[in-house]
Amino acid sequence: MGMSEKKSRVFLGHCESYDDPAQIAAVIARGVAAVGAAPPAGRVVIKPNVVFAHPVHAQHCYTRPEFLEALLSVIYGNGAQAAAGPATQHPPVSGVSIVERSGTGCPTSVCFRRAGYGRLTRHFPVRLIALEESRKKQVHLTRSRLHDHLTLGKAVVDSDYLVFAPKLKSNVLAQGMTAALKLNIGSLDDPERMWHHDHHLDEKIVDILEAVYPRLIVTDAIEIAVGGNQMTEAGKPLGLIMVADNPLAHDLVTARVLNLDPAGIGHLQEAVRRGYSPASLEDVEVVGDFPLEEAQARTCGYDLGYRRVDRFESPFRIVCGEPYCTGGCHGVFLDWLYMVKDRQPHKIARFPHLTVVIGRTDETVEGESVLLIGKCAAQTKVKGARRVVRLGPAKCPPTHRDFILWMALNYLIFAPIFRPETVIDAYVTYPFKRLLGRLAGVERLPDRAAGSSASRPPRRPGVPGH
Ligand code: SF4
Repeated sequence: MGMSEKKSRVFLGHCESYDDPAQIAAVIARGVAAVGAAPPAGRVVIKPNVVFAHPVHAQHCYTRPEFLEALLSVIYGNGAQAAAGPATQHPPVSGVSIVERSGTGCPTSVCFRRAGYGRLTRHFPVRLIALEESRKKQVHLTRSRLHDHLTLGKAVVDSDYLVFAPKLKSNVLAQGMTAALKLNIGSLDDPERMWHHDHHLDEKIVDILEAVYPRLIVTDAIEIAVGGNQMTEAGKPLGLIMVADNPLAHDLVTARVLNLDPAGIGHLQEAVRRGYSPASLEDVEVVGDFPLEEAQARTCGYDLGYRRVDRFESPFRIVCGEPYCTGGCHGVFLDWLYMVKDRQPHKIARFPHLTVVIGRTDETVEGESVLLIGKCAAQTKVKGARRVVRLGPAKCPPTHRDFILWMALNYLIFAPIFRPETVIDAYVTYPFKRLLGRLAGVERLPDRAAGSSASRPPRRPGVPGH
């Protein structure tokens, strides 16, 4: 549970390109040995970041297949055992699965294909498991704040050894950074995934950590993605591979790699409050051949894009009500704005002059054309408007897919990933995949099998918008 008093080690290794998986594997093996992680054994599950993938508009947002190929060669080639010492014996790896749940309504299997993961199954005995179409299993939580149980991929719950393989990226939904802890949102399927994906996102992320706690974290930061939408933002070279056996220690160091203050990242602080260790960077030993200061020097000029949505420059006048939901309406709308800016910045100046209300406000809003976003803003008093549009008046929060569709239908603003193939993915293929998931079934907690609460997480009392 990460509660140990021992000083955690985080390894920073140097690797400038994806060209040579053998070189990447050598760095990973050195890292596994340096942090003293237990060697992978038994049923191994790798959780990468494949939130989305597209050959034109989303090339930098996922863990690269070359990186996973190197990781697989370490796992199967006993790189970890070799690094731990020739006399060390450990049980063999009996199988490896890569489990993920993509976002934006795009089927994970499609994202696996677009990310080039097919090559992994040709070179290694590895299963690619799309969470939404696979069998699931419920687990009970005891230290959580929001969820009293979670419905996870059965392969994850039944695994012997869980490896996180995040892609280092900036993310405006999580105070600027996504690394190991935030990766866990992809361990959930709808509707559990979006439940409390609002101003309680930090607590939600730490809830999941209780059930999905990695024994090894190996991060692809050879090229990082920064500055905009988590799916479409630009790639920048960093030349770094990170290895750790403690996700909080990993993320504390990751924050410093990006020149962020860990004290300003809510889910890290929530993890510390919940009793996870280490509590601060002072309790972490950074090792390896890539000095932290050099990594910081390489990223110091990067604007990670994290700001309030009403500070985003556009013809929109944005009124922010309460609560301010970094992980909900405010953050997802900001992420939609960045999606346009990342790929088609010329469109921003051509946006209509809208007054956009996000969150609950007592103020009477004036404007010719008013857009009310989400459940909290739906009842806003509006004066003198010729047109009022309510997007998701019953939703908390609307999703990226909602914004992409609604802004196209209502204002003819087409996000760059609104394309024929992605529309087919979202509205034809995805429902079919969900049907497969329903047929695969869920192993429910025994004491909940007959009750209705197993199909919906409990509501937290006093939460606005619910
Ligand atoms: S509906 Fe309200 S509580 Fe829910 S995400 Fe939007 S602003 Fe936050």
